[in-house]
Amino acid sequence: MPELPEVETVRRGLAPVMEGATIERLELRRPDLRFPFPAGLTQAADGRRILALSRRAKYLLIELEGGAALLAHLGMSGSFRIEEEGEGGETPGVFHMARSKDARHDHVVFHLEREGRHARVVYNDPRRFGFMDLIAAGGREENAYLRDLGPEPTGNWLDAAYLATRFAGKAQPLKTALLDQKVIAGLGNIYVCEALWRTGLAPEQAAGTLVDGKGRPRPQLLALVDNVRAVIAEAIEAGGSSLRDHIRTDGSLGYFQHAFSVYDREGEPCRRPACVGVVARSVQAGRSTFHCPVCQLPQKAPHRLAGKVVGKRNLKIAR
Ligand SMILES: [Zn+2]
Repeated sequence: MPELPEVETVRRGLAPVMEGATIERLELRRPDLRFPFPAGLTQAADGRRILALSRRAKYLLIELEGGAALLAHLGMSGSFRIEEEGEGGETPGVFHMARSKDARHDHVVFHLEREGRHARVVYNDPRRFGFMDLIAAGGREENAYLRDLGPEPTGNWLDAAYLATRFAGKAQPLKTALLDQKVIAGLGNIYVCEALWRTGLAPEQAAGTLVDGKGRPRPQLLALVDNVRAVIAEAIEAGGSSLRDHIRTDGSLGYFQHAFSVYDREGEPCRRPACVGVVARSVQAGRSTFHCPVCQLPQKAPHRLAGKVVGKRNLKIAR
């Protein structure tokens, strides 16, 4: 599943070709992906100029002249390929998933024109877990995918004071609280594991323990916010640089793995200097959590949260 940095890298790769271009024709080669294509999709897109390609959480937003927007989610195996006149295909932002060149899986084709030059942007998705939606002009606030999303982990809106209001009194584990898209939009499993490791916080520790009795963020929450923003920013930066490499070498990438400190490193030594811990894997809410049991110890003392004592059960690390 691509996470926010991957989607942002895809956006940056597609923007130079799509922004300012006119969609001569939106070609749908089947009636559905994960869900049926919305009614009126091609009519809304055909002949329209693309004003901008933006992103909200893990959704790409193709902003059309006139105010409508096309929302795209890559699902498990979706990728975009650019085919320009006289040039071979290029896939922006391919990460953990193998990219498919099999034309049977080319499901959506944007036929584009800009200043007399033609290009095709092809959406390929072997497993068809991706989906697209049409947002009418003025319909952004009510859109089912967008309306409940919290702040982006990339902008200034996300700060410790905000997270303190969301975490105060919560016995919910930090890992689960950070994955809640209503709290932070677009933050996924990999980067939550990484940010908690950097901060030295146990994934099972109650979210409310990072807020003091007056509702203010404790120092660890300040550090956690800095680390969330840093891991996302670094991953986006890595995606951008690897994208350039990719154009030259055509290798399969998977380069983010090399940068992980805990994610997918079960049984390997902790990368924190002087730590003797070995990375452990546990399962929280159906998702694999990776952490170091030595330097990410849960706070031992029970904390009073909104008048009730949080006992050992909530603070224990699941193994
Ligand atoms: Zn460690």
